[in-house]
Amino acid sequence: MEGIRTQTGQRNWFLICGLSVVLFGLTACAGPRGGDRTAHSESFFAMDTYMTFTAYGENAESALRQAENRITELEGLWSVTDTGSEIYQVNHSGGQPVAVSGETEELVSFALVMAENTGGALEPTIYPVLRAWGFTTDENRVPADHEIAERLANVGYDRVHVENGTITLETGTMLDLGAVGKGYAGDEAVQILRENGVSSALLDIGGNIQAVGAKPDGSYWRVGLKDPFSGGVLGVIQVKDAAVVTSGSYERYFIGENGKRYGHIIDPATGNPVDNGLASVTVISGEGKLCDALSTALFVMGLERAEDYWRQNKGFDMILVTEDGNLYVTEGIRDQFSLQDGYEDMAVDVVEFE
Ligand code: ADP
Ligand code: MG
Repeated sequence: MEGIRTQTGQRNWFLICGLSVVLFGLTACAGPRGGDRTAHSESFFAMDTYMTFTAYGENAESALRQAENRITELEGLWSVTDTGSEIYQVNHSGGQPVAVSGETEELVSFALVMAENTGGALEPTIYPVLRAWGFTTDENRVPADHEIAERLANVGYDRVHVENGTITLETGTMLDLGAVGKGYAGDEAVQILRENGVSSALLDIGGNIQAVGAKPDGSYWRVGLKDPFSGGVLGVIQVKDAAVVTSGSYERYFIGENGKRYGHIIDPATGNPVDNGLASVTVISGEGKLCDALSTALFVMGLERAEDYWRQNKGFDMILVTEDGNLYVTEGIRDQFSLQDGYEDMAVDVVEFE
């Protein structure tokens, strides 16, 4: 395909994870046909992932630098491993309130609202369970049932209290914003670009794609949807002014001694890695943080609950790929989605409002 770029976004910002990580779920096809407008591109490593920002127009260069600085600043607030971060302080405060910045308060509050909305599928306190599975270190392992049960006892978004600029965690509880932080960071970057007069840009935030406007020639950005089984590009989503975020367990996982595959997204109901027949969930909406929260939560929910959630909440579109190779596309995005050559035979189900 013409103009396709493939990013190798390694991910694991909030966690130090030794798994070999392949591409994230999306690749951006941003053919720079800018006419007299020049493309400025910037690649950097932050939040344990490769980011590539491309922007067009006069102020693009300085706007990109400001956006990068902002991302680095947010990373410094939310890392779970950096002892200087606010989240680290919150996680090691022994049950005492910790004063945090406005953006940390906002992101944690958002994560709590989304946890409630998704019936706990998004669970920003899952971190201790993730650690038991070794996703935070090089030592992946299958924990004993009693160990998972012990860890789960301290998991629960209702154990997080946000009050007057402080966050308090009940004893034994830890926060991990890994499922939502990059989306929030992307929204911040988009806002900075707009404030600087940039009307056309494409941000690849370790696989989360966020588009400002359309391409300089007015056509939509073409975002590749990755085949969770082969790593190829399965289809193309055409968007403008939108975020496109994928979650799946085909990138960060380990294979147990029993040959079973264990992914890095945990079902908070069981404490086990998600294993519900979904291979990936892609969410498309105007807001990166909503896409990020939902891609993780809908992946936990599985096909039927995800469809129900979409019908009840709307405000976003989604593309689900199941492990048996079927595709489910919500009706709002069906006309902007097309299968790539070689994938024409894939079964595509359109999910409708009814
Ligand atoms: P990625 O980080 O691969 O883009 P996600 O946005 O889906 O994918 O976030 C996955 C990360 O979120 C995990 O690495 C872990 O830190 C954290 N996590 C795992 N399970 C959950 C869950 N049920 N709710 C919230 N966060 C989770
Ligand atoms: Mg997410």
